[in-house]
Amino acid sequence: MHNTSPAPLPTIGAFHPPRRILLGPGPSDLHPRVMAALGQTVVGYLDPVFVGMMEELKSLLRYAFQTGNPLTFPLSGPGSVGMETCFVNLVEPGDTVIVCRNGVFGGRMIENVERCGGTAVVVEEEWGLPIDPQKLEDALRAHPEARVVAFVHAETSTGAQSDAATLCGIARRHGCLSIVDTVTSLGGTPVLVDEWGADAVYSGSQKCLSCTPGLSPVTFSAAAIDKVRARKSRVQSWFMDLNLVLDYWGATQRTYHHTAPGNSLYGLHEALRLLAEEGLENTWTRHRRHHAALKAGLEAMGLELVVPEAARLPQMNAVRIPEGVDDLNVRRTLLQEHAVEIGAGLGPLAGKIWRFGLMGYSCREENVMAALAALEQVLPAAGHALRPGEAVSAAHRAYAEQHLIAAG
Ligand SMILES: *Cc1c(COP(=O)(O)O)cnc(C)c1O
Repeated sequence: MHNTSPAPLPTIGAFHPPRRILLGPGPSDLHPRVMAALGQTVVGYLDPVFVGMMEELKSLLRYAFQTGNPLTFPLSGPGSVGMETCFVNLVEPGDTVIVCRNGVFGGRMIENVERCGGTAVVVEEEWGLPIDPQKLEDALRAHPEARVVAFVHAETSTGAQSDAATLCGIARRHGCLSIVDTVTSLGGTPVLVDEWGADAVYSGSQKCLSCTPGLSPVTFSAAAIDKVRARKSRVQSWFMDLNLVLDYWGATQRTYHHTAPGNSLYGLHEALRLLAEEGLENTWTRHRRHHAALKAGLEAMGLELVVPEAARLPQMNAVRIPEGVDDLNVRRTLLQEHAVEIGAGLGPLAGKIWRFGLMGYSCREENVMAALAALEQVLPAAGHALRPGEAVSAAHRAYAEQHLIAAG
């Protein structure tokens, strides 16, 4: 007889994550009020108190998305679940979907269409540029059978923002519904769902909303719901079938669908209250202000931004890695010696760019200055010559100029 008893378990201490400054592509730093909200007591998901909190969450999300859509709520799952939910509900086998791709996340949309049995017609754009609306127009002319247009508003892999209002307008004029990824834009740059006329929009909790990962706010127009209700085939995912989720999030008489991640929802409730207190306009302005200082500092160090100015996301700043500098070594030193996390390049941009996120609660002056000061220390040893102090003072100047502008 062989011995099947497992090895004795070594003593495992409690896990205490170190404090980091999260300046990558998400997650972002949590506000202390969000952290406090997460640790509250658990109540049942059908408890009237919990149901009341869910109703408030829906109102807060309508504000964040700038929409009157009744079907606006957080899905239990990360942004990827939001993406997949939109595709599995709106795409039926045999449907043609125009997918715009200018980075990693557009590529995932193509994968989703194909897994739904649809045909993806891809509008390709260079990584780092926004989607060219004329290319979408041309694709729709060439494919009058298309039923859905999908694109990423804020491409986190490059830091480029596309013109969502124009792209949704073109989709609508060609009789198509739109699926829009706002994972990185919601709470960072304007997301105006009703003004755009967008039909199915998803986001994520851990980027500019600065909540824990694992929730995906979504909103659906009446036309999108009509399309789901008129499907010929059943949605292939039981968990993501909106017809079923609606009985939990949408109905007045709630029934069990799945156990909602209650504590994460407490956190999102508080994160959205913070957003409402600051006000969307002020939030957008704050992201632009700190972006301007970070940009001034990065450029003073001789780092070149990837995205042309008009399409630059303030909350996601991609720069080219200088010739001869070891990507991994710099990021490791920033993390281990300065507690600063930044993002690596993805796909064809791996090893070629760094991504500096300034998302939500991470988007603060102390973080901009900490990142620039750390880079000034780390880059010379990595082979990129610079004069220490210049980046930091360029950022200070950028802040000072903004005070002057504000003072008139
Ligand atoms: C992060 C991200 C996602 C995926 O979100 P997860 O929460 O990681 O699943 C999708 N789209 C974009 C644009 C993102 O930045």
